[in-house]
Amino acid sequence: MQPSSNGPRLSAFLGCSPTSVEVAAWLDEHDTLRNLRKKFLVPKIADLPHSDPSLVDGAEKCIYLAGNSLGLQPRRARKYLEVELDKWAKMGVHGHTEGSRPWAWAENNIEGIMADLVGAKEEEVALMNGLTVNLHLLLLSFYKPTDARHRILLEDKAFPSDHYAVESQIRLRGFDPERSMLLLPPRPGEETLRTKDILKVIEKEGDSIAVVMFSAVQYYTGQLFDMAAITEAGHRKGCFVGFDCAHAVGNVELKLHKWGVDFACWCSYKYVNSGAGGLAGAFIHEKHSVEPALLGWWGHDLQTRFQMNNRMQLQPGVNGFRLSNQPILLVCPLQASLEVFMMTSMQSLRSKSLLLTGYLEYLIQHHYTEDPDRPHRPHIRIITPSDPQQRGCQLSLCFSIPVAKIFQELERRGVACDMREPSVLRIAPVPLYNRFRDVHRFIETLGAALGAALGAACFLLPYVLSSLKTCL
Ligand SMILES: *Cc1c(COP(=O)(O)O)cnc(C)c1O
Repeated sequence: MQPSSNGPRLSAFLGCSPTSVEVAAWLDEHDTLRNLRKKFLVPKIADLPHSDPSLVDGAEKCIYLAGNSLGLQPRRARKYLEVELDKWAKMGVHGHTEGSRPWAWAENNIEGIMADLVGAKEEEVALMNGLTVNLHLLLLSFYKPTDARHRILLEDKAFPSDHYAVESQIRLRGFDPERSMLLLPPRPGEETLRTKDILKVIEKEGDSIAVVMFSAVQYYTGQLFDMAAITEAGHRKGCFVGFDCAHAVGNVELKLHKWGVDFACWCSYKYVNSGAGGLAGAFIHEKHSVEPALLGWWGHDLQTRFQMNNRMQLQPGVNGFRLSNQPILLVCPLQASLEVFMMTSMQSLRSKSLLLTGYLEYLIQHHYTEDPDRPHRPHIRIITPSDPQQRGCQLSLCFSIPVAKIFQELERRGVACDMREPSVLRIAPVPLYNRFRDVHRFIETLGAALGAALGAACFLLPYVLSSLKTCL
């Protein structure tokens, strides 16, 4: 029998309730990726700053559901860092060319793996800089506004850094963000964008759009956009199409090359677990001969780079966009993480992810769907699309009551997740290291947290009174 997120079917098979912990245990036992968790360091509850050991056993591992924000530390990261620190201590400058990770071309060890993760050819990918820096470098080459075609289309409420980057690029070229930034909001009363609305605006406004610049997975709602369709629609109207894959890489299957995406950028500290501020990625499709607007010596052909004759021999494609030599201390943790990805495939991870997130969705709906007979009972609306093809692993939960107190109670009980006031929690069960048991523990803990938050909350008094009135 295949494990299924269809709780009732599995629970009938197991002879237990669909919400029973036995379902989670069975799914974990039959998870062929379960050993990958051992490659990461999962924090102990007692070590989390806001945990309260009087409520839960501090020696237990925490319920880590914040991989959308910062992935866990790969076990091997420390070892690789120590190797390079030792090399530096023992041989100084010779480390540039010696050892298994010569600093001068350290990225060579890992760019092939990263290219696999995003569905690109190795020569289409460069690991360098931070995400926002790469977005700027790419826009400098792909955004060439003219009076007729000067707009950049992006989702309304894009991640702030992307919004600012686009805004400042428009201003840099002497255009006015008010006129040149085309922000696409969801329909009134809706939380996520409909693919057909995105395609329609491209079709309608495309002649004035220079660049379509979407996120691949929206950071707030968790929506996965139809990147192939958006790319095709943009190209039909002569626009360049780029994606910010920060929340998509390591989370969903990407095929940047096959889809013909023009350019993309991403960070590696979210689902790719490289540590805060880790080395970011950039992609330029091999069909392009665009040149970088800004040059540095690392864009120079490696064979002749160190002749220092000041005659630029630019590497083709994205490799010519490199500016500085690689920060080896950032390469180490990224390599440690990418090697774990290499033990499996994005396809296998995604299969598990669909189940794991489906299981979370099932339990939330089971316990917290709005009950018309008890309108004052706290309930949860999932704003992430219910279609698994339109989301990654994250679910964004919108609570019917203010969420700050609930979040605090979750943290006291050893849950690491992410809050966006006033009412949203972002919950990301990551298939690399999260278990079905983590999801089950989260739901149990959420029950306790809600109980504590409601018990303590006098702001709920009006609700209680009005419920009483309905009883009387
Ligand atoms: C995380 C994230 C960023 C962060 O940018 P940095 O340059 O890495 O600090 C930017 N954009 C998006 C869409 C993100 O998800």
